[in-house]
Amino acid sequence: MDNNCLFCRIVAGEIPATVVHETATTLAFRDIDPKAAVHVLVIPKEHHPDVVALATNDPAGSADLLAAAAAVAEAEGLRTDGFRLLFNTGAYAGQEVFHVHAHLLGGEPLGPMLA
Ligand code: 5GP
Ligand code: ZN
Repeated sequence: MDNNCLFCRIVAGEIPATVVHETATTLAFRDIDPKAAVHVLVIPKEHHPDVVALATNDPAGSADLLAAAAAVAEAEGLRTDGFRLLFNTGAYAGQEVFHVHAHLLGGEPLGPMLA
């Protein structure tokens, strides 16, 4: 755990979050500032700064994260209409919290991302 990391502190229960799904290795909770009707953040419990570090250092954890995201999409009823799953990676891409997190967005029409 990184004591200076917001999401490590959520995993540790030091900061409250609305948890929607949990496994031995992952946690999913609602984004505090949702950008869609459904906006859930899916994270590994272990600290990795971004998705490249996670993929490089913990391939099994990467698979766990995708499986958790799929389970949340199913549980939130997003499979019918579709959803977006994305990783902001690096400051240029708008990453603000450097504990890897997948944004799961849906529950409304999202339109083309790069329009
Ligand atoms: P990033 O820009 O790093 O990809 O996304 C960080 C996300 O974390 C943002 O969507 C932001 O709203 C969310 N966030 C920031 N602080 C908190 C918090 O304390 N709790 C929750 N649930 N989400 C947070
Ligand atoms: Zn962390």
